[in-house]
Order: sequence, then C-alpha cells, then structure tokens
Amino acid sequence: MANVLIAGAGLAGLTTALALMQRGHRVRVFEQATELREVGAGVQLGPNGTRVLIALGLADAMRQVVCVAAGKRIRLGTTGQSWPVFDLGETAIERFGAPYWMVHRGDFHRVLLDAVRAACPEAIAPGHACAGFASHGDGVTLRLANGHTVTGDVLIGADGVHSRIRQQMFGQGRAAFTGLIAWRGLVPMQSLPPHQRSLVGENWIGVGGHVVTYPLRRGEILNFVGVVERDDWRVESWNVPGTTEECLHDLAGWHEDVKTIIRNIATPYKWALLGRQPLDSYVQGRVCLIGDAAHP
Ligand SMILES: Cc1cc2nc3c(=O)[nH]c(=O)nc-3n(C[C@H](O)[C@H](O)[C@H](O)COP(=O)(O)OP(=O)(O)OC[C@H]3O[C@@H](n4cnc5c(N)ncnc54)[C@H](O)[C@@H]3O)c2cc1C
Repeated sequence: MANVLIAGAGLAGLTTALALMQRGHRVRVFEQATELREVGAGVQLGPNGTRVLIALGLADAMRQVVCVAAGKRIRLGTTGQSWPVFDLGETAIERFGAPYWMVHRGDFHRVLLDAVRAACPEAIAPGHACAGFASHGDGVTLRLANGHTVTGDVLIGADGVHSRIRQQMFGQGRAAFTGLIAWRGLVPMQSLPPHQRSLVGENWIGVGGHVVTYPLRRGEILNFVGVVERDDWRVESWNVPGTTEECLHDLAGWHEDVKTIIRNIATPYKWALLGRQPLDSYVQGRVCLIGDAAHP
C-alpha cells in the first residue's frame, strides 16, 4: 500500500484519488479552495472516459445527472442547414461498450466528491494550497502554503492549468495566445423555442469561428461554447463575465438559433484560449502530473 499525496481536488485529482483508494492505497488530497466546487460549464465524456467512471462504481450516481444525447449534428453558421454526424445513445454503447455522457461540471464534481468522501471522509483537505515539494530517497515531502509539510511515498500534481507542481518540475513554460477566445454559458432548456430543445449536440461551423452546444442534466440545460478569432482579449480564466451585447457582436451574422441561445444566457463568460508546448515527460522521480497540469 502506497501513501499517496495529490495536489488539487478537481476532476482529475478526485478521479485518481478514488481509483487509488479502491486499490487499497492511502490517499490525501490537498486543495487550495476552501469551498469545493466546479465552474458552471459542461463537459462531454466519450466512452473511453465513461468506461472508467463505470468501473469506479459511479454509473448510478452519474446517470442521475448526465444527459445521454441521441446524437451529434453539424450546422452551418449562416443558414442553419444541418447534417447528422453520428448517433450516440444506444449506438455508442453497441459500438464502444460504454455510453457517451454530457454533464454539468459541477454535477460531475459533486459525484466524485461524494464518492471520495464516502470511501474516506478525511481524504480531502480543502483550504490547503500546495507551494512546492522536496523529493528524497524514500519519499516526497509536500510543502503547503500555510508552512506545514506532509510526507508521502509519491506526489501527484493535479493542480490544473497553472500548476505549481509542474512549475517546480519543469519551470514556468510559456503560454502562447492562440488568437481565439471562447464564449461560454448555460441556458435553461425551457427558455428556448421547442425546435431548439432536442437532446442532440450541435457543432456549428462558420467563418472565423465555431459554436458547440449540447444538453446537460437530463436535458434541463443547454451548454453553449462559441469560439471566435479575436486578439484583444488575453485573460486565461473560465470565470470572467462578458455581456450579452459583446457576445452577440462577436457572433454577428450567425444564424438566429445561435443568437436565441446567446440572448438566453444569464451570464456569458469570455475566456482567452492559450496553448503550451507539450512536455516531454509527466514524471520526475516520485512526482507525476495529471489532467490540465500535464497537458494544459
Ligand atoms: C469550460 C470547459 C469545458 C471543457 N470541456 C471539455 C470536454 O467537453 N471534454 C473534455 O474531455 N475536456 C473538457 N475540458 C477540459 C477538462 O474539463 C479539463 O481538462 C479538466 O477539467 C481538468 O481537470 P483537472 O482536475 O486537471 O484541473 P482543474 O479542474 O483545473 O482542477 C485543478 C484543481 O487544483 C486546485 N489547485 C490549483 N492550484 C493549487 C495549489 N497550488 N494547491 C492546491 N490546489 C490547487 C484548483 O483549485 C482545482 O480545484 C473543458 C474545460 C473547460 C474549462
């Protein structure tokens, strides 16, 4: 049995914690936030991911909150013309042996959190930011921002896109702006006209941008992401609010269905998309990186 330290209680840190605990390891997760929650946005989980969650025993809890979309279609940004791309639903299960789920990140995070706490109520330490680590012959010592240290056999850096653990292992790295920004938001399905309430994911294509929409939470909410070329916004944050007018301006000329969705987003968020060079390795001795810390 290994004594495992994990930095970060996001989707990657919690999934890994649960998997390791189920294999009999002792796991402690140190999370900087005092309140454990996720940003309000959707995430799509293909059969490669849902297969893992099902193996971890999360199928019943996830089925309460996911949307099993019937399929995906492509739509043209100007005219709205549509083409089916592929079927999901039962087809995904028949073809890949596991379902395709669309889920609100907050719902997904809550399922993981409950499962980790059920396995070990003290496993997660909120309000404990990780500041750095020191490797030694027979273990690794994690340094916390409050001045305390904890020792384990291995350390997993799951502390997200601005990972402190990655910075210590491989330096700052340079994030390059891609020239794209993403608008995102959630819309109550009931606020949309009936023809826009189907349980199908849509990928809209247009000049200088694309839009992705898909249903969440059993079809009660629609997730919206609009990616456009724009170089005057460089803030890499998921939580900076923009305005409906600005979002509509960036997607002017797009089909009325897209504009209807935008008008029904309570708070559209704008997020500059940055990229980093892939790392040559995610491992250094007894320390490794996972999730956005590894491939931001
Ligand atoms: C809006 C959005 C939509 C996405 N859609 C998809 C999708 O459809 N499909 C897909 O596969 N992927 C998608 N992704 C990407 C995927 O969701 C991320 O790759 C994933 O959430 C990363 O999880 P993570 O746990 O590595 O990082 P995070 O979720 O960022 O979690 C990191 C955690 O570490 C904590 N932390 C940070 N620094 C410290 C520190 N110093 N000490 C302690 N704790 C710390 C943070 O507070 C946070 O809780 C999407 C991402 C976003 C933002």
